[in-house]
Amino acid sequence: MTDQQGSAIDERCQYCTFPLTQSKSVFQSIFVCHSCTPEDGQLLCLCQACADHCHADHDGLEYVGMGPCYCDCRQILVGCRIETESDREAKRLLNGRPCLSQKPSTNRPLTSVKDSRLFSLIEGKELADRLQLQTQTLVKHSKETFWVDPSLDPLELSELELLAYTILDGHCQRYSLKGYGAEWWVQVKNVSSQRASGEVRTLDNASEAVDLHYDKDETIAEKFGIGVFPLISTVTYLTDSGDAPPTVVFSKRYDQPEDETISEMLLSYPRQGNHLVFDGRLLHGAPANHSLRRPGVGDNRSYSNIRVTFLVNIWDMECKPVGVERLPHSIRQHLISDTAKEPFPLSSEKFTSQSGLFAESIHLNDELSIPEALRQRIELPFLGTTTTWESASDDGSTTFVVTFPPPIAAQSDLLLVSFGPGMEAYVENDSSGDEEEPSLVV
Ligand SMILES: [Zn+2]
Ligand SMILES: [Zn+2]
Ligand SMILES: [Zn+2]
Repeated sequence: MTDQQGSAIDERCQYCTFPLTQSKSVFQSIFVCHSCTPEDGQLLCLCQACADHCHADHDGLEYVGMGPCYCDCRQILVGCRIETESDREAKRLLNGRPCLSQKPSTNRPLTSVKDSRLFSLIEGKELADRLQLQTQTLVKHSKETFWVDPSLDPLELSELELLAYTILDGHCQRYSLKGYGAEWWVQVKNVSSQRASGEVRTLDNASEAVDLHYDKDETIAEKFGIGVFPLISTVTYLTDSGDAPPTVVFSKRYDQPEDETISEMLLSYPRQGNHLVFDGRLLHGAPANHSLRRPGVGDNRSYSNIRVTFLVNIWDMECKPVGVERLPHSIRQHLISDTAKEPFPLSSEKFTSQSGLFAESIHLNDELSIPEALRQRIELPFLGTTTTWESASDDGSTTFVVTFPPPIAAQSDLLLVSFGPGMEAYVENDSSGDEEEPSLVV
C-alpha cells in the first residue's frame, strides 16, 4: 500500500467511522464534546476524525478512551463537516460489500492463544527449498500482499499461489468454512548468529525483527481508525534457521483494555516445513531479541542464514482487505519460469488428516522456578514505523514489556509460556509529553 499524502492527522484517521459502522458499536477511539451537548442532554460519542475535524477548536472536547461506540457527530445540531467525503470514501472502499453493522458475527474456530496449532505441512527439503527460492524472486519484484480464493483456476497459478490456495482449502475443510479467501505474502529476513559472535544477546539486530503488530485491513485502519481482522493467521517456515527469531503470539487482542496484563505467550521456533495456525486477532511478531530464541541449538543440522516465512491470512470474502489483489501476471511469469514442470506436490488432504500439535507448556512462577538474577525484562518494540497504527503521542513511545527467564529448554517447536502473578507482560507508554494529549494506543 502506498503512503498517503498529508499531515500526520490526515494520514491516520481522515474519515468519520459512521458510514462503516452505522449504529453498531465498534471498538475505536471515543471522544465527547461538552460544548456541543445541550445542558442536561445526553453526551454523544465522537470518532477520532470528527474530534480532529469537527470539534478540534471546541473547549469541551474530551478524550474518553478506547471502547465500543458509533459516532454521533452528524446527530449534533451543527452537523458533521466530513460527512459527505466520509460517506463517499466508505462507499468506494466497501464497493458493494456490507458495512460492519450488517455483517453477521462470525463463529470463530480459534478464540485464544491456546487454540494455536502446529502442522507439518511441507515434507521434503526439495519442495521447501524450491518455494524458498521463489520467495526471493518475488521480493525482488514486489513487497505487497496478494489474494487467492476458490474461484481461481489452480492450473493458472504459480507454486507460491498454489501453496496459499492449498492452505486456504485445508483450513476451509478443517473448520467447515464457506465463502473465505486468503491474503498471502512472504518475508525474507537475515539471521545474526549468536554462536558465530561468541557472545550471547549482544546482537539484537533490529533489521531481523518483525515488530509486534496486529494483522488487519490496513486501509480501513489507516483511513478510519477501525480494526477489521482476519479469521485465522498462519505462518509457514520455508527455511531451517536454528538461530532465527521465533514467531511470538501474545494472549492480547486489540479490543482488550490497554492496561490489562497479558498472561500467555506462544513461541514458534522456525523449522522448515512447519505451519503455525493462530487466532487472527492476536498481537504477534518476530522480535529480534536473542533471549527469545531457542537456547542451545546444538544439533548438527545445517542452518540457513536467512529466515524465510510464507504468511497466509484467511478472511471472510465479504471482509476482503481493501486493495489486496491477485498476483499480477507479469510477476507470476517470473515465478513460473523458476518452477519445475511437474504438478504441485502438496494436497490439502495430506494436511487436513493431521490433528495438529499442541504447544508444550511451561508455567513461570515467580517464587519457584526463576532466580531473580536470571530474569530479565525485555522491551519489545510495539507497532513501529512499518505499521499504520502508531502511538498518537509524538514524543512518547509505546513498548511491550515481557519478563522472560533464559534459558528454557524446549523440546517442541511450539512452546506456550504462561506467566505467574507479577510476571505478566504489559504495554508501557513512555509519555514524556503533554498529559492532556489523548494517548491512542492500539
Ligand atoms: Zn465521526
Ligand atoms: Zn463540539
Ligand atoms: Zn464529524
